[in-house]
Amino acid sequence: MRVGIIGGGITGLTAAFYLQRAGVQTTILEGRPELGGLSSYFNFGPFSWDKFYHCILTSDTPLLQLVDDLGLTPELRWTETKVGFYSDQKLYSMSSSLDFLMFPPLSVWQKMRLGAGILYTSRIQDGRPLEKFLASDWLKKIFGEKNYAKMWGPLLKCKLGACREEASAAFIWATIARLYSTRDKNSSQKERLGYVRGGYRTVCLKLVEEIERMGGTILKNMPVEQLISTADGGLDVISQKQCLHFDRVIATIPSRPLLQAAPQLSPATARKLTEIKYLGIVCYALVLKRKLSPYYVTNLTDEDLPFTGIIEMSNLISGEETAGRHLVYLPKYTAPNDPLFAAGEEEIWQLFWKNLKRVFPDLDPSEIEQKYLFRERFVQPVPVLHYSDLVPEMQTNVPGLLLANTTQIINSTLNNNAMVKIARQAVTHIVESSSNPSAPSPVVAGDEISDAVPVTQ
Ligand SMILES: Cc1cc2nc3c(=O)[nH]c(=O)nc-3n(C[C@H](O)[C@H](O)[C@H](O)COP(=O)(O)OP(=O)(O)OC[C@H]3O[C@@H](n4cnc5c(N)ncnc54)[C@H](O)[C@@H]3O)c2cc1C
Repeated sequence: MRVGIIGGGITGLTAAFYLQRAGVQTTILEGRPELGGLSSYFNFGPFSWDKFYHCILTSDTPLLQLVDDLGLTPELRWTETKVGFYSDQKLYSMSSSLDFLMFPPLSVWQKMRLGAGILYTSRIQDGRPLEKFLASDWLKKIFGEKNYAKMWGPLLKCKLGACREEASAAFIWATIARLYSTRDKNSSQKERLGYVRGGYRTVCLKLVEEIERMGGTILKNMPVEQLISTADGGLDVISQKQCLHFDRVIATIPSRPLLQAAPQLSPATARKLTEIKYLGIVCYALVLKRKLSPYYVTNLTDEDLPFTGIIEMSNLISGEETAGRHLVYLPKYTAPNDPLFAAGEEEIWQLFWKNLKRVFPDLDPSEIEQKYLFRERFVQPVPVLHYSDLVPEMQTNVPGLLLANTTQIINSTLNNNAMVKIARQAVTHIVESSSNPSAPSPVVAGDEISDAVPVTQ
């Protein structure tokens, strides 16, 4: 059995790793010169780190299992991180219960309602019934209009930009549940976040090393243009340079390029693939000579800021990782047709810099050692009402073609834990159906990966 994997991001690399371990011959076809996709790394000069910011949660079980399977558990580091809020032109800490009680922008009544609402939300076990409510309506009902205007509305904008009015309440539930899951359960309820030393560079390089050691093939600069079904039930995978034949193919790429490459997908699948909208990201990464704040994430509730959060990576990772520099990301989640994707870097920088100065008035341009702009158009699928009905099945109507991409994360923010789950589910499907081709499609048996995407409807 030969399996082709389209896309060399974390999903494609993980699928190849576990398939090779199961004795299946794999070939990854990656369109770009580098592997890792959204989790790829960048050479910042004095150090390398992720192009986009990543953290690991203590509850990221499948991801931590992958880290362990790669022998990287000794490289894991955990940090108690702090959260900031920039509200009414002031920066506040929101890292402890005391901070919460002292938080001036909300009245005592609003805080009581906020606390009770979060407790209520964190106890909801199944978020799917919330898919029928718009997040904005539900948040106003649970937390009140004022809390929505002061906190939740701006926070939704941070996560979903202009699409916030389309999101369902299940997305908010999943986000709160995910963040709560990494709190220290024993004592302080403090947030603990992790990373692998060297960042996702370490993880990706180790995946590549292991895949190649086990006999897998990785082809870079190989954008796949066409998938042609063949009489033997397999697929020819065509790029400008080569035509390769596989018995099975796992597509981990965004939905639009997949649809272009495989017009034989059924109208029902095609509809699902086109109906799910993506948000893109425009993100500045700054290498600074000094710390900006004590917070890993600063949430912004002043709606007119052009970026949707401030992520101070150096408050999560050790200074050794960044050669003593401070790494800060300024992301903006926005629609793929936002003019920012075509705008010149200097124009975007002037906009971001002017507003960064509002938050940190004493920051001097001489304290910025380097700045880099990263843009990606298809990043976060928008978790609209009844999202689970839109999620495409893993096993498509095209014989041999499996889909394992980010649209299959149900109602949560994009995260690698979910993608590792989905990759493993595709692997299990291939391994089990190849050992017994007449067996019904398996939904992954009895472990924590079974709640991912439906294999078939
Ligand atoms: C700003 C930001 C912050 C994030 N923070 C976190 C975090 O804190 N924690 C966390 O767990 N996750 C985080 N994530 C999410 C994480 O990066 C993604 O879950 C993950 O990288 C998705 O991996 P993927 O392989 O599914 O998709 P991708 O990374 O998109 O990989 C798809 C690959 O397919 C390739 N490709 C596309 N078209 C073709 C083609 N036609 N032929 C061949 N190859 C093709 C692409 O080049 C790419 O390499 C974050 C993401 C972003 C953008």
